Amino acid sequence: MNRCKICVMPDTRPDTEFVDGVCSACIAYQSRGHVDWYTRGVELERLLSKHRIAGREFDCIVPSSGGKDSTYQVLTLIELGAKPLVVTATTCMLTDIGRKNIDNLSRYATTIEVSPNKTTRAKLNRLGLQMVGDISWPEHVAIFTTPFKIAVQMGIPLLFYGENPQNQYGGPLDSQDSKTMTRRWVSEFGGFLGLRPADMVGQDDITARDMQDYMPPDPQEIERVGVEAHFLGQYIPWDSNVNAHVAKKAGMQSVMPCKANWWSEENQDNAMTGIHDHMMYRKYGYGRGCAQISADIRAGAISRENALVWLRDHDGLFPWEYMGVKHFDVCKSIGIYANELPPIMDQFTNWDLFGGVEDMRPILK
Ligand SMILES: [Zn+2]
Repeated sequence: MNRCKICVMPDTRPDTEFVDGVCSACIAYQSRGHVDWYTRGVELERLLSKHRIAGREFDCIVPSSGGKDSTYQVLTLIELGAKPLVVTATTCMLTDIGRKNIDNLSRYATTIEVSPNKTTRAKLNRLGLQMVGDISWPEHVAIFTTPFKIAVQMGIPLLFYGENPQNQYGGPLDSQDSKTMTRRWVSEFGGFLGLRPADMVGQDDITARDMQDYMPPDPQEIERVGVEAHFLGQYIPWDSNVNAHVAKKAGMQSVMPCKANWWSEENQDNAMTGIHDHMMYRKYGYGRGCAQISADIRAGAISRENALVWLRDHDGLFPWEYMGVKHFDVCKSIGIYANELPPIMDQFTNWDLFGGVEDMRPILK
């Protein structure tokens, strides 16, 4: 495993190209200076005015968790004169702070919360963990399908996600590209991990109707409404720390979720995220903290040297407690005993990367 020469991301991260030892996120960051943000801003205004139609209640949809990026997106769009509808797909195990932040954001914009059947959700969390090592599989599916369904049902074609997590700062996509990209992007990068919602039918008595909550709308319906999804981060400069600052000023609350995290403002809304992130560490050799501290290295907030020291002591620490919720309560909520968790985790651990395990944390070779 080799780490990027600029940040500390390893080359074991999926979908991350390295050129001369530098990761694609760092390359994208370096080329950010060349982006003509003025022109992008004009394009954004053009896009918004195209969708500002008399008699339509909302101009666009912001798929939201109530977190720093969603809050920033909503406030930015309001500032640009748009009237966004916030659509929140409830997380797998909503935390107290997550609840408060959804309520806080609803002070600024009308919010629709969609909470799929919790019994089915718990089954999907367990199956996601057992089948592909991803406890958050249903949440990642719902983040994409739920806002698209509301878009179709309410006839609001314009959707704004935040930043493209693949950090592709290519040109802004026209609506046609954006649409096709969306479908491909969702299945490739959107967290499906090769497991489609339809594959869950028949597992643990889950029926096709149970899975309706996770099915995307009919492509013909998407076409009819003209749904187009854009990343707001492709139109305006995107800085997680700035977003956090703006969101906190607007009333968002946050705490450090667990010791394996570097930022105290991210991923506050789902108590299962700790185990999700820990599995990412076991599969690819990097945890949430590594991704967060890498962003801070790029932004010049910490040296690579100091980041490596932090990683050695924190990255991949097992989340015995995440957002104040104990790991055995997470296990209980998905119908497994806490002692069933380690063998499942071991099964999805890339043992080529690790030499041993200390306190449930695999140690990198
Ligand atoms: Zn890098």
